[in-house]
Order: sequence, then structure tokens, then C-alpha cells
Amino acid sequence: LLAGGLSACSSERSSDEDAGASASGGASAGGLIGVSMPTRSLERWNKDGARLTEQLKTMGYETTLQYADNKVDQQITQLENVINQKPKVLVVAAIDGTALSPVLQKAAAQDIKVIAYDRLINDTENVDYYATFDNYKVGQLQGQYIVDQLKLDSAPGPFNLEPFAGSPDDNNAKFFFSGAWDVLKPYIDSGKLVVPSGKSPKSNDDWASIGIQGWQSSTAQSEMETRLNSFYGGGKKVDVVLSPNDSLALGIEQALDGAGYGKADWPIVTGQDADQANVKNMLAGKQSMTVWKDTRTLGDQVAKMVDQIVKGETVDVNDTETYDNGNKVVPTYQLPPVVVTADSVQKDLVESGFYKASDLGL
Ligand code: BGC
Repeated sequence: LLAGGLSACSSERSSDEDAGASASGGASAGGLIGVSMPTRSLERWNKDGARLTEQLKTMGYETTLQYADNKVDQQITQLENVINQKPKVLVVAAIDGTALSPVLQKAAAQDIKVIAYDRLINDTENVDYYATFDNYKVGQLQGQYIVDQLKLDSAPGPFNLEPFAGSPDDNNAKFFFSGAWDVLKPYIDSGKLVVPSGKSPKSNDDWASIGIQGWQSSTAQSEMETRLNSFYGGGKKVDVVLSPNDSLALGIEQALDGAGYGKADWPIVTGQDADQANVKNMLAGKQSMTVWKDTRTLGDQVAKMVDQIVKGETVDVNDTETYDNGNKVVPTYQLPPVVVTADSVQKDLVESGFYKASDLGL
């Protein structure tokens, strides 16, 4: 069995209102800030929500924090309810980046400013700022890791690659894929990397054909099982799996386990988020790397941006070119992602306080 198993991703509370995040003694001096997160089922969003609301409360704001069970309609209803409470700012990590323009129109009508959190919100003018990690860079780091580990510039190859992509409704997923594919595609074209399943997008624009809806571990697992069963008979082995994040990696690792892969033939598997179960798998040799995005820095940056908006100050951004949402280029603050491997878990994740050693069985 995988260390950590699939439990971190399997279930979700049905009622998602986080009453504990609202200040109890009436309105705080700074006013109300609404925070909408996609789901509790992925560890990172719990960390994101906790850090952001904690930071806002320290700054004197009242907060409401809601999780939408990965259901678009639920997120829209939750946003409508928060808008009725007239918050000063809405912070939204969208489930479907193209589904929120009607509800954000209602926010704009009440002069409520909107910050897109981690994921861009598309096709609307009513998103004021965006704060995220450099999403293209996440993919680039995954691709470059594969090139370096396989020594693709010198080794003769060919190596068997199975690529995966994220949820088609998440604007980030195309950036992750493009970043990785821009690095890997030349080696596919030269024949050093081959994709036995044929699930190899012809171009960056075709990424959604291998996207895993809702970033579900279980879907990634069954997809990987199908590929292993159908294309890897007769001793043929997977050498490398491009997984855009940790929830997919967990399912893929489960499939590899089930197919009998072990220490001697375990492929390179990439990831993103430094989820606890995946970090444990890295320590157990079942995942090669994860791209860590320190959600504390994102939460702190967004709290700062909220405060700047409320106070009418200039809002901190460092990118005004990258994130075109189909209506406008949204001013963005981008943070740098970091590669973590088993060797750097202690330094990056434990010494920084992101995890306690005991969380990781260290
Ligand atoms: C986030 C990733 C996360 C994925 C699944 C993406 O938008 O940037 O960190 O793994 O969603 O929740």
C-alpha cells in the first residue's frame, strides 16, 4: 500500500460553511472579506483558506470562508449569499474559471472588488486582481526535472513517457501543461521520449484531451490502470509519468503499485503541492519530486492586497502581461514555485515549518 494512501482525497464534508472562520463578536473594524475556496478534498485548499483568513483577522477584518465541494453551482450560490452580506472584497479560487461572470456582475454592481486566488477567472471584466504562483514555471520545472533525471541530452533512450494534464475547467491546467510540454516536446519529436499509449497531445492547445476532470485521484488511477493494461504487456515498462499535481500523482502511484512496480523499476513521477501523502510517498521512493507552492506566502500576499484595496492604496502586482482572461489582462502578483525532492524535504518543508517532522513520520 502507498504510504498515506488515498484518504486525503477521498471524501468531502457536505456542509462547507466554515463558521469558525467568522469573527464571533460582530463586525471587525476593517469590515467583511468573503473567501470562496473550491474544495476541502485537496489538502492545499484547507491550508490556503486557514492561512488567508487568519492573516485577515490579524489585520482586523471579519471573514467568511466557504468551500464548494468542487461543485460549480454550489460555489455560485455561496458567492451570491456572501455578496448579499456586502463584503468589501471577495477572494475567489474558482472551480470553473469560465462560470462566474454572472455572479461577479452582481458583485461589481455593489462595488465589491474581486481578487482571483490561485486560479484566474475568465471572460469577465469584473475581476480586479489575480494572485498566484507562476503556473507556466510549475510545468517547466516538472519538464526540466524529467530531462535532467533521464539525462535526455546525452542518454540514447528511448524512454517510455505517460503524460497527464489537469482539469479542463481550470485555467491553470493549460499553463502547467504548456510549461512542461515546451520542455519535453523536442525530445518526443526527436524520438528520445515515446508515448506508448498514444496519449501525446500534438500541441499545447490539445492538452485537454488528456485532462483529468476535477483533478480526481481516482480518475487518474483508472486512466493509468487502463494505459498499463493496454499498452505495457510483455515486460514493457513505464520510465516516466508527467503528472501535473499531487492528487493525480497519488492515483497514478496507486496504479503503479497495483501493477507490481517496485523499487527496481519504479518510474519517475512528478507532482505539485507537497501534499502530505505525496511527501510521504517521496520519502518512500514512490514519487520523485513535487513542485511546492508555499500557500502561506500566497495567503499573506493576498491579505496584503485586500488591505491595500480597502485602504485605497496602490495594490502590489508584479505581472501585467501574462494573464489575459479573454476580456482583459488581469494585474497579477506571481510567486515563485520550488522543486522539492526527498533530499530537500527536511530543509524546505520541515525547517520552514510547513510540516512538522512527525507529520511526515520523520
Ligand atoms: C492548483 C494546484 C492544485 C490543483 C487541484 C490548481 O489550480 O494551482 O495547486 O493541485 O488546482 O486542486
